[in-house]
Amino acid sequence: MERTASTAAAGPRVWRNWAGTATATPARWCRPGSQAEISAAVKDAASAGRPVRALGSGHSFTAAAATSGVALDLSGWTGITAADTRTGLVTARSGTTLRALNAELGGLGLAMANLGDIDVQTLAGALSTGTHGTGARLGGLATQVEALELVLADGSAVTCSASSRPELFAAARVGLGALGVIATVTLRCVPSFTLLADERPVPVEEVLEQFDALAAANDHFEFYWFPYGRKALLKRNNRLPPGAAAAAVPPVMPRWRRFWEFEVMENAAFGTLCRIGRAKPQLIPGLNRFSSAALSARSYTDLSHRVFVTPRRVRFVESEYAVPRESLGHVIAELRRAVPRLPDPVMFPVEVRVAAADDIWLSTAYQRESAYVAIHQYAGLPYQAYFDRFESIVAEVAGRPHWGKLHSLGAERLRALYPRFDEFRRVRAEVDPEARFGNPYLARVFG
Ligand SMILES: Cc1cc2nc3c(=O)[nH]c(=O)nc-3n(C[C@H](O)[C@H](O)[C@H](O)COP(=O)(O)OP(=O)(O)OC[C@H]3O[C@@H](n4cnc5c(N)ncnc54)[C@H](O)[C@@H]3O)c2cc1C
Repeated sequence: MERTASTAAAGPRVWRNWAGTATATPARWCRPGSQAEISAAVKDAASAGRPVRALGSGHSFTAAAATSGVALDLSGWTGITAADTRTGLVTARSGTTLRALNAELGGLGLAMANLGDIDVQTLAGALSTGTHGTGARLGGLATQVEALELVLADGSAVTCSASSRPELFAAARVGLGALGVIATVTLRCVPSFTLLADERPVPVEEVLEQFDALAAANDHFEFYWFPYGRKALLKRNNRLPPGAAAAAVPPVMPRWRRFWEFEVMENAAFGTLCRIGRAKPQLIPGLNRFSSAALSARSYTDLSHRVFVTPRRVRFVESEYAVPRESLGHVIAELRRAVPRLPDPVMFPVEVRVAAADDIWLSTAYQRESAYVAIHQYAGLPYQAYFDRFESIVAEVAGRPHWGKLHSLGAERLRALYPRFDEFRRVRAEVDPEARFGNPYLARVFG
């Protein structure tokens, strides 16, 4: 979604997410520029009897942010407000995009310890759905949070952390926007670091056989696998110690090569293949095998966020589940069996990542060393049968859906998957008894 930029105004302006899988027509849009204005907008919504939702960048595939009530556009509520370069504690306004945050942190000699694939999300939007990157010793973005400032349903502002209102903190770090509007986030950042990126095609069987060893041996390990192809693209990103001898490591990728690799090959060329596949679906398995066979090796170094993040210009739909690490082999084997039998072919690769267990109530990695399996389909191609089959496979191993990616689970099933589900609902009932921050998506997932 293009981030909205209007002042408070009435009128039938439509909200649409990036993937085009959700739309809404808010009764009112507000663009607060201060915490007092966020509080006032929430109070006004209550007086008018309307629900209210904070908007991020619209990069959730689910209708998590959708509202027919008051839409809070936080694109005017950005920037770092406090930073301690000694401790790494940094407080930022919730509408700051990860891209802007990374740039500001870089200027301070700091960085986020881990990031996902893209950087256009807002900080609060990314946290609220449990956005994660990869790394067996690292958790999702929410594990990097030290404190949150929230505007609650009555318009009051509260701060929560491990020592102050710890239950609210355990719930609100991945809170789906259900508990209040996050006004500011205090992150524990790390000194800026350089990553050595190594990407190479490897037979998928080999990656699966060595999965645990690869997860253990690399700071950030993931792989992509085109489901008709034999090869996976194995990606390993490892931190270079400060002052690593320049001669011993591959160089930073020159600008022209970055453009060629990321914009031309991964976006323009791949986008062309996808369009051909959409026009002639019978060609898709062959195009998919071609993409798999065309994978090539590359190795380079760069600042962490320039390695973690890549442009994603080809539109797609996605579902992603966190499964117990030990179940990954079963899930991939079942997917391999299922994909050739689907009524419609699959154009996009499967992505597999890892994360450490954490203690955040609705984190997909709550108390579980996790493997993330993400499936995608090119926008405009049929995907329902694929996603349904995937859900039935991950259901066998107690898979937990990413809150921002397509899934069909409701409260009953989610309650069985999250040991602290009822506690989350209790905290929600305490801080938002009238479900002021509710919407149909929350009604489905929380009952
Ligand atoms: C191309 C693409 C790549 C992606 N890559 C990854 C990835 O690598 N890893 C991963 O885990 N996910 C990934 N995602 C998913 C994405 O990170 C999440 O869906 C994320 O929530 C999107 O952030 P957003 O700012 O767009 O928030 P939105 O989608 O706009 O909102 C998400 C939720 O946050 C709530 N919210 C927003 N701001 C506030 C606030 N201030 N206070 C309270 N609640 C708030 C909204 O109400 C909504 O419930 C990707 C998505 C896309 C489209």
